[in-house]
Amino acid sequence: MYLVTKAYLFKKDSCKSYVLNGDESMRIILLGPPGAGKGTQAAKIVDEYKIPHISTGDIFRKNIKEGTELGKQAQEYMNKGALVPDELTCGLVADRISQEDCKEGFMLDGFPRNIFQAEMLDKFLSEKGIELTKVVNIEVEKELLVARAVGRRICKSCGATFHIEYNPTKTEGICDVCEGELYQRADDNEETVSNRIQVYIDETKPLVDYYSKQGIVATINGDQSIDKVFDDIKNSFGK
Ligand code: ADP
Ligand code: ADP
Ligand code: ZN
Repeated sequence: MYLVTKAYLFKKDSCKSYVLNGDESMRIILLGPPGAGKGTQAAKIVDEYKIPHISTGDIFRKNIKEGTELGKQAQEYMNKGALVPDELTCGLVADRISQEDCKEGFMLDGFPRNIFQAEMLDKFLSEKGIELTKVVNIEVEKELLVARAVGRRICKSCGATFHIEYNPTKTEGICDVCEGELYQRADDNEETVSNRIQVYIDETKPLVDYYSKQGIVATINGDQSIDKVFDDIKNSFGK
């Protein structure tokens, strides 16, 4: 059951509290425009810190692939590069971070994407008595983003991300990690990527200010090698 008032959008029965895990828990948000490198860094962060990776884009794509009702509804927006409505998004994130494996931390990639989602998340976390640890804001100049997203290729089997030019696989079209087949996302074409960048500027970028007021933003230069970006992220965590 979803409560679809502006005051409270999360699924009602996902508000059960869980015991705090002290200061060791890492609750991270990855912020950045499409193509900034969020998914690429997320894979490295979860490997290093052993926390679950929660990507709303991945959750929607899985639902599209499985032909669920949510997938059908989300696809319409994703194809245009628009945001999926908050009513379809907030509840599923609340459910996911209520699961057992998130008790010791989690990393959100692609959520929140507007002020409303951020306010809902704050409310949800404060009801559980927990706080965000860090918001990693990956900055890349607009001019570089389209080429990054259009050249992106993803493994059908394990989800690893590559780039035809900047991070190529050893064998074209084949995943280096699991030898799965690579594919290109339907929304990684020039026109949709440009829309998504504009949506980021209009709706998501204000979150940098929003979280700066909470003093938890680490801004990282995403126009460096993948490993150097990761080093900077690790340094920002201080551990
Ligand atoms: P996001 O999740 O922010 O949309 P991705 O991590 O999927 O971004 O990266 C977008 C594309 O850019 C991918 O093809 C990826 O291989 C490539 N990429 C990621 N980080 C870098 C980097 N530091 N330099 C060059 N290319 C990168
Ligand atoms: P990228 O990092 O390249 O922008 P994502 O995989 O995060 O791509 O998102 C792909 C699409 O999924 C977005 O363009 C949007 O339509 C939808 N989406 C993902 N996360 C959200 C969210 N938190 N709120 C609304 N729509 C979302
Ligand atoms: Zn693979």
